[in-house]
Amino acid sequence: MPELPEVETFRLQTESTCLGKTVVKIKTSGLMTCPTDNKMLASVTNLKLTDTFRHGKYLFIEFDGNPKYLIFHFGMSGSFKFDKSQNSRSRKPAYKHCHIELCFSDNTRLSFIDPRRFGSVGIITPKAKEQLISNLGPDAASPKFNFEYLKEVTHRRSSPIKTLLLDQHLIAGLGNIYANEILFASGILPNRKAGSLSEAELKRLVKDCKSILKRAILERGSTLSDKGYSDIHGSKGSFQRLHNCYGLDGTACKTCDETIVKTLIGNRSTFYCPKCQI
Ligand SMILES: [Zn+2]
Repeated sequence: MPELPEVETFRLQTESTCLGKTVVKIKTSGLMTCPTDNKMLASVTNLKLTDTFRHGKYLFIEFDGNPKYLIFHFGMSGSFKFDKSQNSRSRKPAYKHCHIELCFSDNTRLSFIDPRRFGSVGIITPKAKEQLISNLGPDAASPKFNFEYLKEVTHRRSSPIKTLLLDQHLIAGLGNIYANEILFASGILPNRKAGSLSEAELKRLVKDCKSILKRAILERGSTLSDKGYSDIHGSKGSFQRLHNCYGLDGTACKTCDETIVKTLIGNRSTFYCPKCQI
């Protein structure tokens, strides 16, 4: 579930809590399919966390004196938690479902928690990082995702616009919540053929995408009723209060009072207002 705004929240909060701190120990659960072995993970011990970077739903962490990156994907249920360490001697992470615990020299720690284990973590080289990014579309919040680009990728496409927005190989970072909300904001039906959108509609889509992502990052993402996501300090996000259609089927549209409808597109739950969206 963590989409671009939630992953960006983890990134910003990792910077504000962990930047400049030295890793003294890394604890692993051994339960996660990890593309990297523990020895490689151990290569960042005694190094200082110096930078972070995000592309789409991937988060990269850089360490001083190490050319490799620690990479995270949060899958369905992954999250970060930052707090003080309890000085445990255990080699295993403290929290249930925590797969990686970075212990810092000042007795704080960053835990990567993922109950459903669809996420992943590993160490990758700069070359592998570039390869991974080249397989993804431009980040939805970056200037590379713009009208010209969207016009190019929607040209003559018969797939529904919503399916296209969710395709990480074309646009990186959007998931089901934000794709639904962006289409509502733009007044575009989610099942419209991507190639049928006018230039004015494409421009509106890009503009609404940027402003929704920006606001959602300010609100530290969306915490749904399943309470699956919380930020690095355990606080809920607040963008769900501003949702206009996601999960709101059967309720009155905030704009026109028509009932919000739920359907399936590409096997994903899709919410829209049949009056406001054409
Ligand atoms: Zn409406």
